[in-house]
Amino acid sequence: MGNAKPPATKRPPAPDARRPPPRTHGAAGAGVYSPAEIEAIFTRLSDADPEPKSELEYTDPFTLLVAVVLSAQATDAGVNKATRRLFALADTPETMVDLGEERVAELIRTIGLYRNKAKNVVALARQLIERHGGAVPHDRAALEALPGVGRKTASVVLNVAFGEPTIAVDTHIFRLGNRLGLAPGRTPEEVERGLLAIVPERFLQHAHHWLILHGRYTCVARGPKCGNCRIADLCKSPEKRLPAAA
Ligand code: SF4
Repeated sequence: MGNAKPPATKRPPAPDARRPPPRTHGAAGAGVYSPAEIEAIFTRLSDADPEPKSELEYTDPFTLLVAVVLSAQATDAGVNKATRRLFALADTPETMVDLGEERVAELIRTIGLYRNKAKNVVALARQLIERHGGAVPHDRAALEALPGVGRKTASVVLNVAFGEPTIAVDTHIFRLGNRLGLAPGRTPEEVERGLLAIVPERFLQHAHHWLILHGRYTCVARGPKCGNCRIADLCKSPEKRLPAAA
């Protein structure tokens, strides 16, 4: 973990699946980029960071799962601060259950929604023991059946812990898919399907990380940093604003 990145900004809420996508992305749609342009976009992102890592701290699939569950509406830095305290006392399903909900809540009280998250973490640890022998299952349906685990969290665990070529659509990827016209969609699932259809296979393993980092630090929600963007010449977003040439 520990990549030298600029400080994380507070992660906004997950995109609301009931809301239409922002109008600013225009009617881009599939086919806006040729296969060669898509190849070029991911080659640039990949060249800049060939082996991107999660900025969350974890040591195994269980601690990764807990960290991702805790990360909703919190920064990675804030989650890491809380999990350093938590994992020092409990880093297995058994020790998490032994620690109990009240104590877990105390240890993670610095992050948003901590009471509910503490409840989910202990409940999911119990379910892992009862149904999976204490191991994190390498299976989407089993992961999504765990308390506090939705499609996005399951996708992150499948990608990071098990090397599956999944794309977990968070608020950054949802924005990029629509803003750039790479994979427009009204829901995270539509954007996910669109990206899975266009991202060349050799980039699929890390596409999710590259897009998150690009959205978190360059193509930010307000005032994208187009003058400092490594794919500016390829980008066809109506929101692209390049500084005037000197
Ligand atoms: S040029 Fe601007 S809008 Fe396009 S990807 Fe880069 S930062 Fe985002």
